Amino acid sequence: MKLIDGKKISNNLRLEVEDRVKKIKQKTGTLPGLATILVGQNHASQIYIKSKIKACQDTGIQSFHHSLSENSSKEDIISLINKLNKNSEVDGILLQLPLPNNEYTQNCINAINPLKDVDGLHPFNAGLLNLSKSWDEIIKKNILVSCTPLGVIYLLHKSNISIEGKTAIVIGRSNLVGKPLSILLLANNATVIMAHSKTKNLKKICKSADIIIAAIGVSKFLNKNFIKEGATVIDVGINRTPSGLCGDVDFDSVKNMNIAITPVPGGVGPMTITMLLENTLKAFKNKR
Ligand code: NAP
Repeated sequence: MKLIDGKKISNNLRLEVEDRVKKIKQKTGTLPGLATILVGQNHASQIYIKSKIKACQDTGIQSFHHSLSENSSKEDIISLINKLNKNSEVDGILLQLPLPNNEYTQNCINAINPLKDVDGLHPFNAGLLNLSKSWDEIIKKNILVSCTPLGVIYLLHKSNISIEGKTAIVIGRSNLVGKPLSILLLANNATVIMAHSKTKNLKKICKSADIIIAAIGVSKFLNKNFIKEGATVIDVGINRTPSGLCGDVDFDSVKNMNIAITPVPGGVGPMTITMLLENTLKAFKNKR
């Protein structure tokens, strides 16, 4: 088994981000800025926000954090977003999900200026991604793509795992992970299969894939019976269990296989935050 070390790849990319931030400061006299919004007290969200703020501080990006109370209305959140939209020091706006009330999530996302939508969830950016024809186009046009899927593609590229012509299965079809990731894999010329909770014969389909992306949210769901020898497995899942964090893959079951795999923690998670920094720099550039 070969471990794909997301932490190491991510640390190297963060050094590059730090360097680019220094150059921006020298050239323009200003620093890129990221505003984060946390609504309520969700424990996992508090941890993620803390890591995001720290990553900004470590790389020199300005961080502006806003906490809103659990019972904030849709209007309260949108009013804050509107202020941040107008603030020229803020290049990116990240609304930490899930919101306490999921009913108005999309309305709040829609209120974010698409140029500041560093999570790539605004219909404008999701649309641009859908219309893109290739990875080159996505990069050249500086399209703001959802951070976790973008991080998965960087992990594959930086680990020299070729995607072109490979059969890739994405298990999970959320707007945040599964759907954008399938488009990114397609843009990298993979043959993409999308699976979900209604997929029949998942084990058999998975076993035919060269690249397996597990974005399900069910701990230890995939075991060795789903995976062929030689495959690459990207475990996006983060599941909190009484014995700690674990992914969607049963790591013990696959540890003797000849596969490349991301660990949980230390795989996709650090890349997600690094891509948020990357998107903030993209947003800074796009603004100009
Ligand atoms: P989500 O919105 O809950 O989507 C889960 C997807 O998994 C759905 O499309 C669902 O299918 C599918 N699914 C559920 N049970 C299944 C089953 N038995 N067989 C096949 N498919 C099944 O979750 P998400 O936001 O995409 O997140 C997925 C996981 O990634 C979670 O563990 C989350 O914590 C983690 N995550 C990690 C990062 C990171 O930085 N590492 C970032 C984001 C998310 P249906 O559509 O049919 O219901």
